[in-house]
Amino acid sequence: MRESEVWGKTRDQWIRELPALKDLVKLKETFWENPALLPTAVALKTSPLTMDDILDAEARLKRFAPMIAAAFPETAAAGGIIESPLKSIPSYASRLRMLTDRGFTGSLMVKCDSHLPVSGSIKARGGIYEVLHHAESLAMTMEDLKETDNYTRLLEEPFRSLFSRHELAVGSTGNLGLSIGIMGARLGFRTTVHMSRDARQWKKDLLRGRGVTVLEYDGDYSLAVEEGRKSAGENCHFVDDENSTELFLGYATAALRLKGQLEKAGQRVDSDHPLFVYLPCGVGGGPGGVAFGLKLVFGDAVHCFFAEPTHSPCMLLGLMTGCHDKVSVQDFGIDNITSADGLAVGRASGFVGKTIEPFLSGCCTVSDETLFRRLKLLTDLEDLSLEPSALAGFTGPEMLTATKEGRSYLTRFTPENLTRATHIAWATGGGMVPEEEMKGYYKRAEKQSALPVPE
Ligand SMILES: *Cc1c(COP(=O)(O)O)cnc(C)c1O
Repeated sequence: MRESEVWGKTRDQWIRELPALKDLVKLKETFWENPALLPTAVALKTSPLTMDDILDAEARLKRFAPMIAAAFPETAAAGGIIESPLKSIPSYASRLRMLTDRGFTGSLMVKCDSHLPVSGSIKARGGIYEVLHHAESLAMTMEDLKETDNYTRLLEEPFRSLFSRHELAVGSTGNLGLSIGIMGARLGFRTTVHMSRDARQWKKDLLRGRGVTVLEYDGDYSLAVEEGRKSAGENCHFVDDENSTELFLGYATAALRLKGQLEKAGQRVDSDHPLFVYLPCGVGGGPGGVAFGLKLVFGDAVHCFFAEPTHSPCMLLGLMTGCHDKVSVQDFGIDNITSADGLAVGRASGFVGKTIEPFLSGCCTVSDETLFRRLKLLTDLEDLSLEPSALAGFTGPEMLTATKEGRSYLTRFTPENLTRATHIAWATGGGMVPEEEMKGYYKRAEKQSALPVPE
């Protein structure tokens, strides 16, 4: 086999320089501590985005809240604010203590973005925010919308005609397409979703049912994005998952809401009460935006980790090599084939990688086998049904407390502080998965769980 080079080095040379790459290329589950992490105050000095940007996004979402409440009645009780519950999962936490030989201490919670209204995944934050941002800017420049107006106006003329003359397009493995498609179509935009081969059929069917054009490609996420970007013409706003600051800021507002939820739940966060958050990562915008927001809200008291499939560790590869979006998992012979469809991304966002690098504590990778084992545990113990991608964060606490690399990160805390810690697994999707599909996931999970755990 001919040894191909990546940025002037062979794979072997890369591995000699970065020993952690070896396990990654072998598709082993790994925990990686980010050597580029900085104190939050220092990291902020060079950050392209700030708290003001997040507050601006939150204010925009509040302006839209009356319109959202009118257009999506399931959000009316919350006043049109699209937010998800934060839940304790005590039974799963006790099981985790067993699985880690009591290495895991502290409390474990789940952030149920799986149950975000409107589109049932974390994309209901960033995706919907970007559509609203675009709609507002069109309505203000082309018509007479003012910030002080009641935005339910936007559901009527002249705005419907305005939006119908404009297009939205996006490339997606499924969930971003759902969010952009559902909100875009509701406002009257002509919306096209370019779907990668990983996208589930039910997501395409649902979108077509709402009048969205769905184009399918026999390639991965990067191809779907490339095709989408190419075919977006004039009067078309292409939602660029790899480069969009709007998406990123929409995700980041989650941190402001989480702060209130933690206070309500009586969970303190400070240097004696660390907060650990585990976020499933695909191209990076969702987990990156949320982690960025969390660091701005909680500073050095919060520790954010991304979780990726062993077959699609694009963000980890980009961070570890420092090549960000200049490398793909395929460059290192990794196939980007995983049942975690929302995370089936071979090349990470360079914008997110570079922005989040000084704020991120580390990354871990997880096999599909482990995802399905956790799917079964969570269903059995907590009656919580998630899509496979959303399970990735659940292995974070195990990787942190039961691997040598993870424990090395924990040496910065006292045992007392760790007992007082809060861990949050970010459950990123699953709320809209049809029952039959969920049964199929559970069946596979049962089969997987009956097999011995591989070493
Ligand atoms: C998109 C998605 C993610 C990751 O978000 P990125 O912005 O692609 O990193 C995680 N989980 C689910 C279910 C998703 O749909």
